[in-house]
Parts: sequence; C-alpha cells; structure tokens
Amino acid sequence: MIKIPAGYDSLLVTHLPNVRYLTGFSGSAGCVLVTGSRKLFFTDFRYRAQAMRQVKGFDVHIVPSGALAGACGYAAKRRLKLGIIGFEAAHLSQRSFLEIKKILKGTRFKDAGGIVEKKRLVKSRSEIGRIRKACALADLAMAKLRRTKVTGRTEKEVAWMLETAMREAGSDALPFEIIVASGPRSAMPHGVASGRVIRPDELVVVDLGASVDGYCSDITRTFATGGLSRRQAEIYRIVQEAQQAALEGAGPGVPCSDLDGIARGHITASGYGEAFGHSLGHGVGLEAHEGPVLAPRSNEILRAGMIVTIEPGIYVERVGGVRIEDTILVGPSGPERLTGFTRELTRLR
Ligand code: ZN
Ligand code: ZN
Repeated sequence: MIKIPAGYDSLLVTHLPNVRYLTGFSGSAGCVLVTGSRKLFFTDFRYRAQAMRQVKGFDVHIVPSGALAGACGYAAKRRLKLGIIGFEAAHLSQRSFLEIKKILKGTRFKDAGGIVEKKRLVKSRSEIGRIRKACALADLAMAKLRRTKVTGRTEKEVAWMLETAMREAGSDALPFEIIVASGPRSAMPHGVASGRVIRPDELVVVDLGASVDGYCSDITRTFATGGLSRRQAEIYRIVQEAQQAALEGAGPGVPCSDLDGIARGHITASGYGEAFGHSLGHGVGLEAHEGPVLAPRSNEILRAGMIVTIEPGIYVERVGGVRIEDTILVGPSGPERLTGFTRELTRLR
C-alpha cells in the first residue's frame, strides 16, 4: 500500500506502471489520487468493466474524458483537501500540468517523483514468479534461434521469428523492440533489427525480452555464424569473464557502483575500457528498464529481492560487438540467474 510521504498532504500517480503496481489496473488510461482519508482510482468508460475486475483497494470512479482531468475535476467539485499535492513531474507533459493546475486552482504542486518506483525496487514473491516466467519465455526464444538457420535471412525476419515464438508461448506484447545486430552492426549497442542479410562468419547480437502479466525479462546473447577472428574471440572471452565476475559479486549490501566496477575493471584491464560505453545493468519489473541503475555513479545498494540485469559489452568498429546479459534475482544468500540460456559461444547456421 502507498503512504503519503512526509512533506506532502496528497499524492497523484499518473505513470501507468506505477498505477498498475498500486492498483492492479493494466489498461492504458487511469490515475490514482490518494488523500489523507481516501484512495481513489480514475479511468474512463472504456475501462469500466476492466477496472471493476482488476482494481483492488481503491474506490473506482469512471470519469467522462481523460482520467487525469477527470480526477482533478472530481477533486475540485468535491472540495477534497489536497494541501500540498505530490505529482510525478517526470511523467506529466507540460500541457497536462497546466491543465490540472487550472482545474485545481490554489493547490500547491510538488514533485514526488520516484516514490512509487522506490517501492517497486524490491520484488514480492508473486512479482518474482511472473518475471521468472517471462525469463523462461525469453530462454525459449533463444533455444529456438539455436535450431534455426539465420544466414541468408534478414535481421528483421529473425526478430519476427523470435517475437512469434515468445507470443505463441504466452508472452504479452513485447516490452521492447528486439535487437538483432549482425556483422558490422553488432558494434552498435542498440542495433534494432534491420533489413540487413545475415552472412556466414559474423557476430550476431540478439537482445530480447518477454512479458508476463506486465512483468518483463531481458536477455542478450552474442552468436557466431561460423568462425570468429582472433580479436572477436578475445572480446567474447573478456565479456564472458566480466559478466561472470559481476554475477558472482551480486549480493545484498553490495553498492550498485561496485558491481559495475567489477565488470568495468576487468574490461578496462584487458584494454577495452573505452569500448564499454554503457552501464552494467538495470532493474527489471513492470518496466524493462527500471531502478536500480548499475552504473559507475549509481548510489543505490543491492537488496535481497531486487531483480537486475548484468550486461557488460565491448563494441569495436570494424571488428564487431559482444554483449552478454542475464536477468538475475538478488537472493538473500547470493544471485540466481533467471535467464538460463548458455553463455558459451553458440554457433548458428
Ligand atoms: Zn537487453
Ligand atoms: Zn537490459
């Protein structure tokens, strides 16, 4: 349950993953208003039946148009005591903000961003169960890829095959666009599948995730379509070692920046520090990318029940790129890999 934090008298939650976390509502229009004495959920008529079925612990109100304006209109009409209202500045457009300020004239707005996100950092047993299922679906797609001939096909065709495999096995809409980056494109950390035809003797970076009841998974593997150059094989080995070292270091009480440092230190000592340009990982839950951030400047500490990715990578132009990513659960006594597909170099036909 959500408590109004000190310094605020009421709370307006508009970011949909946060709304879903608090209420269970999975629709695309809804918001939450918590005052000292009331817990209210607002949506429009399209979601009446769904809200009645899904929303728990909040009074459901169906408002004419626009859940947010409707919520504020309701509060204004009923003269609800809002005092200093906390809102999510990072998730509200300027236009919406001006609109609700007008409706709630005289109310003091104060950014309360991150309050719900903080609660979402540590996962409950049922959340872990759903992420575990999403990880199994992602593994299944990787296993199918291993049995598929990819050379001569475009990256997009391969991405579609992977998406179909996960959707047919029960995944909701995918949480992010699948990355299939082959040959020179593998050096692009976010090379979303293109029309390029995959050729023999290349690196192919594949980054995908599934979604179960709104909860996501995230895995990356780098494959070879034949032989690798010495340099490519070396990069693969370094990334694999860095990933394993960080994985072993993940436990409750470990600063996220230290974990990043384990992988980064190994890659830097191997001469590729400059080629690892992104952070080590991120939290996974209702969003594919959420807190905590595993990066050099992160000030968060790992806690039991957090689910994060560990995904070091090395990207060298004209040589190629390698990334290995797993979604892991920070257990009370150590890490558990929730994505289980092999991390050994796998050859694709
Ligand atoms: Zn990923
Ligand atoms: Zn990731």
